[in-house]
Amino acid sequence: MKPTSTALVILVSTALSALAHGPIDHGEATLIAQASVTPANNTGQPSTTAPSAPTAPNTAPATAPGATTNDDGVRVTVLGYHDFSKIKTPTEMLISTGKFRKQMQAIKELGLHVISMEDFIAWKRGEKKIQDKSVLITIDDGWKSVYTDAYPILKEHKFPFTVFLYTNYIDGGASALTSAMIKEMQNNGCTVASHSISHPYPATVKAERAKGSDEFATYLRKEMGGSRKELEKKFGGKVNAYAYPGGYVTGEMLPIATECGYECLFTVLPGKTTLATSNFTIPRYVILGTHDYIFRNATSFSATSTTAATDGAIVQSTPHPVKPEPGALITTRLPTVSADLSKVANIDVESIVMRVAGFGKVPATYDAASKTASWTLNRRLRSRTCEVSVQWRTLGATKYEQPMTWIFRIDREAAYQPSSPIAP
Ligand SMILES: [Zn+2]
Repeated sequence: MKPTSTALVILVSTALSALAHGPIDHGEATLIAQASVTPANNTGQPSTTAPSAPTAPNTAPATAPGATTNDDGVRVTVLGYHDFSKIKTPTEMLISTGKFRKQMQAIKELGLHVISMEDFIAWKRGEKKIQDKSVLITIDDGWKSVYTDAYPILKEHKFPFTVFLYTNYIDGGASALTSAMIKEMQNNGCTVASHSISHPYPATVKAERAKGSDEFATYLRKEMGGSRKELEKKFGGKVNAYAYPGGYVTGEMLPIATECGYECLFTVLPGKTTLATSNFTIPRYVILGTHDYIFRNATSFSATSTTAATDGAIVQSTPHPVKPEPGALITTRLPTVSADLSKVANIDVESIVMRVAGFGKVPATYDAASKTASWTLNRRLRSRTCEVSVQWRTLGATKYEQPMTWIFRIDREAAYQPSSPIAP
């Protein structure tokens, strides 16, 4: 057969808008009205600002168990999961059980230290030392799949974990965790924490806020304090952690959180936690079922004076064979990138779209005999990792299929070229 050339557009899938999605408010962007001033700060400023970048307040209110400022060099990654399934198609908020298993295995292989919420809080209080590159595993909402899918894997690894539950959903039907399941998990490393009573959408919170400050405070006391009381009554122990539903946080919530007895409150904005991180806005990497780079970022730690760097784990698979393979470590900086699309039914070859991170759209070719799209890099890769994405339509379809995205790694030392004028 005669080879056909097709311009292949390659998508760089780096910046995703999906990071801050709430777990059940699919598709709705999470708004963060970040408090720059709280009632304990006596600047007389109103307690909220316009939605802004998540810069954590430097000063915790005096009434709060504030973050200590003496840095111990320890960094913690907090992972946030939602739903799991062995058979359903992954979504942002639902990860395949197989991929979750691989991620837990990767945490072990990277030598990261999984800690409990109790250890995390004790560390934040300055009562306990933990190791650098620690990982706190959290799961929001209370889907039954936590028990059926995630829990067996976590138990096998002896990884402690935390469930952020909204109390209205406990025993709430076929897809919800039951009290009995939660109690059983508590005996095997699970910490119960709060995710409000009703899991309000940001629009609901805003409507409550518009009623006035007294009404809003009453509402927050009910959602934040009420859920804590109910969880403690049902499951015993102290509930010290709270995850903002949808990651939505306003300034009014912070003093009420302290009043209700919470010590650590979690957002959905990615980043590492240190001793200096505000306890009111602890970052979390929400691990999306549809994208793999967040887990890699979460498990990646730069080197410090006492620890070596970890590049982060690439846990992914593609629905069709690709080269270099996902997660592969290659020794050339000028690889040929290819995707075998022979198993794609009714592919419209003219529609094939590919991108390589750092190159944007690149002219690639489609070989009709092998049904493979490929392109050889024309400029040396300088990064440690390279992300590729391929997208296509089926014949007659107007919409593109979900892009096929993967990452491979470059061994920069092995790939060092003495003739290159620039050191790697
Ligand atoms: Zn949630």
